[in-house]
Amino acid sequence: MLLDFALPPRCAGCGVIVDDVHVFCHECWKQAEFLGGGGCDTCGLPLEATESAVCAVCLAEPPRIARIRSAIAYGELARGLAIRLKYGRKVAIARTMARYMAPLIAPDGQAVLVPVPLHRSRLWQRGFNQSVLVANELSRLLGNPTAPMALQRTRRTPPLKGMSVAQRRRTVAGVFRVRQPETVAGKTVILVDDVLTTGSTAEACARTLTRAGAARVELISWARVIRPRRLMR
Ligand SMILES: [Zn+2]
Ligand SMILES: [Zn+2]
Repeated sequence: MLLDFALPPRCAGCGVIVDDVHVFCHECWKQAEFLGGGGCDTCGLPLEATESAVCAVCLAEPPRIARIRSAIAYGELARGLAIRLKYGRKVAIARTMARYMAPLIAPDGQAVLVPVPLHRSRLWQRGFNQSVLVANELSRLLGNPTAPMALQRTRRTPPLKGMSVAQRRRTVAGVFRVRQPETVAGKTVILVDDVLTTGSTAEACARTLTRAGAARVELISWARVIRPRRLMR
């Protein structure tokens, strides 16, 4: 893009001038808690010393989402980018996020990237879905197709913050619908989200996608709220 050459690249975290486009400066890099590709094969959370490959929680009850990976632990830096993705230099921020998310996706050229949808009314207010921008950038980097219209949010939900896991599940139950089953049937679907909190929303998406015939559902997010394991579910 012409602008990338005209302007010196800036750190996506704090705005200082950096050497390369879409990287963080040293200070932000130190502060950021990158999650990497390790942990439980399924949920991506750290394994206990007694566990190997898959954690005890996932073994006891295999989650609907077969693989969850996130670039960074939710904190100041992650939050700053997530906010600016919604309100600021959207495409540049989406590109930076995708750069850190792409290496965490298991290579599979056939897998379809499906952004977690917003409700129509929210879309009208904001004008775009931030997860669609990130999915587009992931597609550009990895070559996987995106299906931004595959999933639809049929009603607006109140903020899930402060709700118990059971309340969250009830709130998002039946909220999603697959509008284009042919784009997901028999395929691996990779849900794309900006911030993963308890996973109730993503789980509701996964349930709907599986019912519509998706062979496997995975999830990639920019940030993830990391809490004591007991509270995650
Ligand atoms: Zn910085
Ligand atoms: Zn696990």
